[in-house]
Amino acid sequence: MLDCIVIGAGQAGLAVGYYLRKKGLEFVLLDAESGPGAAWRHTWPSLTLFSNATSSNLPGWPMPHYEGFPPASHVIDYFARYEQRYELPIRRPVTVDEVTHDGAYFHVYAGEEKLTSRTVVAATGTWSAPFIPYYPGNFGGRQWHSAFYPGPADFAESTVAVVGAANSGAQIAAELLLSGVETTWYTRSS
Ligand SMILES: Cc1cc2nc3c(=O)[nH]c(=O)nc-3n(C[C@H](O)[C@H](O)[C@H](O)COP(=O)(O)OP(=O)(O)OC[C@H]3O[C@@H](n4cnc5c(N)ncnc54)[C@H](O)[C@@H]3O)c2cc1C
Repeated sequence: MLDCIVIGAGQAGLAVGYYLRKKGLEFVLLDAESGPGAAWRHTWPSLTLFSNATSSNLPGWPMPHYEGFPPASHVIDYFARYEQRYELPIRRPVTVDEVTHDGAYFHVYAGEEKLTSRTVVAATGTWSAPFIPYYPGNFGGRQWHSAFYPGPADFAESTVAVVGAANSGAQIAAELLLSGVETTWYTRSS
């Protein structure tokens, strides 16, 4: 019987783990990845943080210095050291299939294994479930999601529409344009 099961060991799960450890609670983090880094393990090659290292701290221990905007590898290294520093009880690779509640306790199922706890925190992020929208009409081209963006080389002879005005859209549109790919960036507001 655990106090808490945290599903996912990205930045959200690690921060929860830090505070559970600080309170002296019995807990475990279950993470589907084969190593530290969560979503940052799956980024496109040129991705950088949109904030600098001093603005990217997990609780307790700041991200090590990086001149400019850190790449994903800097985050992965930080997470790996953070897990060790706070001896977070992370089990990998463990994919949770189902969570049930019997009125008193949570039962967490992962393959053949079942764990029971008083509380569950879902820190599963969004990266592993990319949303690819359906557009009515006939679009004959290839549609990509940013989660699978491989870098500009695959788009060399293409005309590209980048849809979405946040960090992924901005970085990808900029990289394609700077690589000489004919690119139009579509944003909802001016
Ligand atoms: C271009 C770009 C720039 C960004 N810059 C920044 C930045 O500067 N600063 C910043 O803070 N954020 C930035 N982000 C956002 C950041 O990547 C996400 O917000 C962050 O990764 C979310 O963390 P998380 O812990 O919620 O989820 P994730 O990192 O997605 O971690 C979720 C974990 O849960 C695991 N998981 C999922 N389902 C299960 C399951 N069923 N069983 C077990 N494990 C499971 C996954 O394998 C994963 O390890 C940026 C994103 C992009 C695209």
